[in-house]
Amino acid sequence: MSEDYYSILGVKKNASTDEIKSAYRKLAMKYHPDRNPGDKSAEENFKKINEAYSVLSDQEKRKNYDTFGKAGANSNFGGGSGGFNFNGFDGDIFDSFSDIFSGFTGFGGSKKRNSVKKGENLRIKVRVTLEEIAVGAKKKVKISRYKKCSACNGNGAKNSGMTEKCTNCNGSGYVTNYVKTPFGEMTSSSECRFCSGSGVLIKDKCRECRGEGRVYSEDIIEITIPQGISEDMEFVLKGYGNASVRGGVNGDLYVGINEEKNNMFKRDGMDVYSQLVISFIEAVFGVEKEVETLYGKNVRIRIQPGTQSGKMFKIEGKGLKDVNSSRYGNQYVHIQVFTPTNLSSSEKDILKQLGYSDNFKPSSDKECTGFFEKIKNLFR
Ligand SMILES: [Zn+2]
Ligand SMILES: [Zn+2]
Repeated sequence: MSEDYYSILGVKKNASTDEIKSAYRKLAMKYHPDRNPGDKSAEENFKKINEAYSVLSDQEKRKNYDTFGKAGANSNFGGGSGGFNFNGFDGDIFDSFSDIFSGFTGFGGSKKRNSVKKGENLRIKVRVTLEEIAVGAKKKVKISRYKKCSACNGNGAKNSGMTEKCTNCNGSGYVTNYVKTPFGEMTSSSECRFCSGSGVLIKDKCRECRGEGRVYSEDIIEITIPQGISEDMEFVLKGYGNASVRGGVNGDLYVGINEEKNNMFKRDGMDVYSQLVISFIEAVFGVEKEVETLYGKNVRIRIQPGTQSGKMFKIEGKGLKDVNSSRYGNQYVHIQVFTPTNLSSSEKDILKQLGYSDNFKPSSDKECTGFFEKIKNLFR
């Protein structure tokens, strides 16, 4: 069953915002409950396209969805109320809907445009081990950022009665500029320089934040690292960036990872490689060995008598999880036969005897095919 947001809206994966918007409008018109009273399947479709649109119309949610899929897009990576979480319809979504619906007749709300100032986005890297990436992890991270000043509750005034509406912009925070051009008069708007876009003038500034409404502070937050994440990925914690100057919207926090070097496993995308050293005797007679995986020492492999050094074993599903699906990569175990180095003279004598036997000379039968052949066979 296709639950992919792009196919729900019938757009390509690289569709532009406008294409997504227009596809959504068409479908929303078609399935809107007002037009299909009592029709359960229309209602179901309407819900689906709304869910798809709420994600794809938001740059950050879309980015999370593209990277982590639905699970990623719908989970709340950050925990707490600031993370992104849109199982319900929040005000944000209604805003974008009213924007869409304002072009229609019959439904939709009034188009409100109050451009709230947003704090700066921040970017951090979290150090994680491969084992943590394998099972997912909660990491406590110290971040330094601007937070809303608690002394003035973010409005920058020493006490709340000490603010007044900015007369320059009439409280809007923006001023309209009229510019004469050869094509006629054009208008543009810019931030009011008297109140720095807040719409409010402060008579007596808060001492804690010197009127900024935010203070620099350090605190520890807990971040959920999704399983299978790699260094070229990033996810967004909405509202975890800097607080805005005087009461706007918080910026966002972009989280990436630094993967620590691992002595036991080498990662290749979703697959991992490890090495298992066996003795010459074990290689000759065969042996059963327990193999360390990223998920603990819990897989036994049977090494056949006559196993050559360099043989690879594939352990299905013990690689890393794909962030975007429920699939797992594989673990490849590279067998290496240990050549003894500290032998007693009697042991050496026995081996010297054996060395005369043709059976101890490397043969060119199929067991000893070249290294590159082996790699090729492995991926067949
Ligand atoms: Zn303050
Ligand atoms: Zn102003």
